[in-house]
Amino acid sequence: MTNPIYLDYQATTPVDKRVLDTMLPYFTDAYGNAASRNHAFGWVAEEAVDTARAQIASLINASEKEVVFTSGSTEAINLAMKGVGEMYGSKGKHIITCLAEHKAVLDTAKHMEKLGFEITYLQPDKNGAVSAESVRDAIREDTILVAIMWANNEVGTINPIREIGAVCREKGVLFFSDSTQAVGKIPVDVEADNVDMICFSGHKVYGPKGVGALYVRRRKPRVRLVAQMDGGGHERGMRSGTLNVPGIVGLGKACAVAEADLEKDMAHSNALRERFEKKIFDSLDYVFINGDEHNRLPGCSNLSFAYVEGESLIMGFKDLAVSSGSACTSASLEPSHVLQAMDVGDELAHSSIRFGFGRMTTEAHVDFAADQVITAVKKLRELSPLYEMVQEGIDLSTIAWTGH
Ligand SMILES: *Cc1c(COP(=O)(O)O)cnc(C)c1O
Repeated sequence: MTNPIYLDYQATTPVDKRVLDTMLPYFTDAYGNAASRNHAFGWVAEEAVDTARAQIASLINASEKEVVFTSGSTEAINLAMKGVGEMYGSKGKHIITCLAEHKAVLDTAKHMEKLGFEITYLQPDKNGAVSAESVRDAIREDTILVAIMWANNEVGTINPIREIGAVCREKGVLFFSDSTQAVGKIPVDVEADNVDMICFSGHKVYGPKGVGALYVRRRKPRVRLVAQMDGGGHERGMRSGTLNVPGIVGLGKACAVAEADLEKDMAHSNALRERFEKKIFDSLDYVFINGDEHNRLPGCSNLSFAYVEGESLIMGFKDLAVSSGSACTSASLEPSHVLQAMDVGDELAHSSIRFGFGRMTTEAHVDFAADQVITAVKKLRELSPLYEMVQEGIDLSTIAWTGH
């Protein structure tokens, strides 16, 4: 076992060896530009891109022509939201999204607010899910787009996409879902699931970084987008720029592997998470699962360890790569916007850690991690006056805190 142990699969994933091997020739021998029509180098590259497009379409039950390659999910999100806004803005300027979305969606929405769009930010329930009813209630005459993520990247909660899509269909509103955490991890079927646009990213599905795609429905309804990148008219005019052929080949292969191994991968990640959580719950009290315990991404375990600070806990780990629920990027330690939107409370939000398991995770990794966590939590709680008070049976909610 080589250290540190990687348990951050929602942040990114290693490239699968099968994916890398498929990509390599396209850096060296087959380096043509897929848009070069006059020679074999171009034809070979174009054929490789066509194969990747078919592999991707197959995984999500789309047609090849509905796949638009981008540099990743962030770009695909920008294209979907701004592209729809610009195309349909004369019909209406209202967009519905959710407070628990990824920053790529929230910041795009913010940008569009400055351009005159009105955004409704739905609050998720305490598990982080958005109901189809709340979407229905928010839809207005001038609503042109609903943007609700498929699965949450921090807590793993899976939204009722098919139901939300049905409401959007009924109301004649386009539905975009950020499915970056879902594609290749759980079944995604653009027909059965009633979505008009979805996005995904190579590096979240054991493929390379810097490549992704936007699925854009071509019929019933046909979605039209205004390109956000102007140039040579690649990708049927929706996204100009020379195609990243090795990256696209990698994304395609990653999707083919994911399709073939989906059941196996899901069972593997599920089993590891169960093993991990059992060990934790057997040894520690006051641990809470953030997200929908019964409807989560297989490899995601977001836990709050009461009376312990998430950042201190991570510092107490030796050789564990995980993420905390508070992003200390700014001067103030703000708890995660997702946990805040779920109303878990500041204390628990500050004590949360996300553990992510995936294809390359082993039982030995999980056992090592669980031991580390249990030791570190016990150690920190020994130093915690709050935990001591709770042990003595004092009800903390009755104490008036000062200056917290
Ligand atoms: C990672 C992620 C993104 C951003 O994807 P990139 O390809 O890294 O730009 C967007 N949304 C979700 C839910 C993600 O997990």
